[in-house]
Amino acid sequence: MRVLRTRSELRDVLSAAPRPLGLVPTMGWLHDGHRSLMRRARAESATTIATIFVNPRQFNESADFEQYPRNEDRDLAICEEEGLDLVFAPSVGEVYPDGFDTVVQVGAVAEPLEGAARPGHFDGVATVVAILFSLVGADRAYFGQKDAQQVMVIRQMARDLAIPTEVVACPTVREPDGLALSSRNVHLSPEQRAAAPVLRRALLAGRASWEAGERSADAVRGAMRQALAAEPLAEPEYVSVADGRTLAELDLVNGPALLSMAVRFGTTRLIDNEPIG
Ligand code: AMP
Repeated sequence: MRVLRTRSELRDVLSAAPRPLGLVPTMGWLHDGHRSLMRRARAESATTIATIFVNPRQFNESADFEQYPRNEDRDLAICEEEGLDLVFAPSVGEVYPDGFDTVVQVGAVAEPLEGAARPGHFDGVATVVAILFSLVGADRAYFGQKDAQQVMVIRQMARDLAIPTEVVACPTVREPDGLALSSRNVHLSPEQRAAAPVLRRALLAGRASWEAGERSADAVRGAMRQALAAEPLAEPEYVSVADGRTLAELDLVNGPALLSMAVRFGTTRLIDNEPIG
């Protein structure tokens, strides 16, 4: 496995890389969710590359950026274990050189949910992924369904900017108790960690009400909120039942929909979702 630090190293190595080329963009602190993306990429690619870059532009709170967990040695060992061919782990200045002055801003699909709760977040995501897609020129790039809105934003960006990389969404990997794996889980206290599976329970309560025939989106939101209310450490930020294609909040659930939520446990913010229909 080769670790590349600069755009020019990347260009040189990739020009000779066997195709198809599979890309797994990450911010490091790798866990089994990232590993699942790497395995899928490996299964479908002749060359597999991960990127490790904590992107300052997608953090709307600077404390969150500073506290984001980092351990490059451990991350590189995981990439090696997963049999990746290449890792691109650039500095901030390599991704955003002096004079960098462009923002990629996706429209309607980036506005609600995480876009509303974290102003500027998706501008940062779309901008860095556009840069990575352009630098790598992968045939396919692999993302987690755990960040369902992110997948939709990136698909829209790639389509609109005529970037030919295919965006592949992979299932959410969970702990045995249902908590979605996340680099942020490391910040949970033991009590908060014990409480955190309530996100999954609440999403499944929403799904169960829909499966029982409920079509009022407010009633499905109510089922999710009621499950969250059973956990005093959980402070819901939003609870959403949205159109699965546009992410607009629904009145009636009569097609594909996305149940999603953001919940704070102290200063740690967790998100999860469940597609239905
Ligand atoms: P991050 O390093 O958090 O930016 O995540 C890098 C990629 O891994 C993103 O496409 C995430 O959606 C994906 N990912 C994060 N957590 C999980 C998970 N629990 N299961 C599947 N994919 C995940």
